[in-house]
Amino acid sequence: MPDYMFLLESRLLPEQRAALLRVQELSAALGYNVYLTGGTVRDLITGASLKDLDFTVEGNPSKIARELEKGGAKVLMEDEKLRHVEILFAGDCEGSIAAARDDHYVRPGTRPEIRWSTIMEDLRRRDFSLNAIAISLNPASRGLLLDPTNGLSDVERAEVRALIIHSFTNQPVRLLRVLRFAARMGFKLEQRTQEWFELAIERDLHHSIEPGEAGAELRALAREENPTAILKSWEEHDLLETVHPVLAKKHPDYDSINRLNKVRDDLFMAGFRPRLGTPMMLSILGRLKDREQGSLLHKLGFRAAEVDHILEFEEKAQASAKELAGKKMAAPIDAYRFLEKMPVDTMAYLLAFSSNSSAVSKIRAYLNKWRPMRSGIPAVANELTTIGMPAGPKFDAIVDQMFAMQLMGRGKTPEEREKILRKLSGIKEQPKPKETKGKEKKVAKLAKLAGMTKAVPSPAPAAKAAKPSKPAPSTKDPQKKKKK
Ligand code: ATP
Ligand code: MG
Repeated sequence: MPDYMFLLESRLLPEQRAALLRVQELSAALGYNVYLTGGTVRDLITGASLKDLDFTVEGNPSKIARELEKGGAKVLMEDEKLRHVEILFAGDCEGSIAAARDDHYVRPGTRPEIRWSTIMEDLRRRDFSLNAIAISLNPASRGLLLDPTNGLSDVERAEVRALIIHSFTNQPVRLLRVLRFAARMGFKLEQRTQEWFELAIERDLHHSIEPGEAGAELRALAREENPTAILKSWEEHDLLETVHPVLAKKHPDYDSINRLNKVRDDLFMAGFRPRLGTPMMLSILGRLKDREQGSLLHKLGFRAAEVDHILEFEEKAQASAKELAGKKMAAPIDAYRFLEKMPVDTMAYLLAFSSNSSAVSKIRAYLNKWRPMRSGIPAVANELTTIGMPAGPKFDAIVDQMFAMQLMGRGKTPEEREKILRKLSGIKEQPKPKETKGKEKKVAKLAKLAGMTKAVPSPAPAAKAAKPSKPAPSTKDPQKKKKK
């Protein structure tokens, strides 16, 4: 069996590892068993990037959330009835903590009764086998894989398999979900799941997907790396209509989605892991009028603040572009400082859609030239230390000034930088010691000691010996000469 703990630790970003350790620690202190579950384990096994950390505890996650908040985490959403917390861990890493539960259906398709449960029951109530795997984070079994529904073998077969015959009846939103996972991963539906899917569509179950649930799927879709494949799959199965009839009629704006996705690649190359949910949502809804976009989002249960954020995003981004292209940002250092604070999704949106060429070229310079230059700043600080500048506020100010000059194309070579740093710090070069003469003396002394009086290799002393009355020009201090 592979070592899942090793696999996990080697794939986590430092801030994700810190979050994992903290949740583990807090769960242990509260006496809760804790597991990594759902998408995190699936993505770990399939080699996809770990976007977020989903934890399941045999206990109440709100106690853990309160402690995490003290350490700088932000609770994004808390459902006290479901005991589910969406959280932004310290270090800007997304995740969730949920209580292990069983959904008990009195009859298929009715609202389930929730019962707090063990991890095994929790895994069995999930939607698809590939989402029903957990990794234990408990001291006695850390790294143990729990896979009661054989999800691992479905992953190997590249299939999405629903767990029970009533899966779609119990939760019709799984019709959207099954296509989302299949399209995202390039998997097909397992044969029986395919039959259950078709039967559910025949029985019109997709018309009973609740708008809030469809909204959650649309939100998840906008966070996907390749929404096009999923949207096309929803369209092919006439499920886009269920999400919203206007979106189905006018179609998603595939051109805009592709443009934004190209920018995602550029940002990735520049070292960012951009979250493009908002600009992607605008791209998906790009063919709808503003009014239609607003009413779609409201109908699908988006909160008012979220709707405002999405609908005002473009205007705010364009205002930022105008400011970036304005007179106040003429000096590259000012543009750099402004861009340092610009959210990455705003940058992405402008790169993909803005016609403000000056703003766009500054963003490109920021990503491809200025940021890499900034990463060379520790070397500049070393150079400043080498010429004798002590640490302190003046030191930092000089490093900043040097960076501002580098942004304008100055200080490309170490020599040029030394000159600039000396000028900025006022530290003059030390006069060079009269090296040549000293060296000659030393060589002669060594030769004498070794009894090799005739063995001086350089022709220069011989020339000097021929004309003892005239001092060699090389003995003059070049610095002194300059000063005269
Ligand atoms: P993503 O990468 O899109 O976040 P995910 O698998 O983490 O994928 P979520 O919607 O975040 O999807 O849900 C987390 C987990 O909760 C899922 O992996 C699945 O186990 C379970 N889950 C979510 N929705 C359902 C559902 N409708 N029915 C059963 N289980 C569900
Ligand atoms: Mg998830």
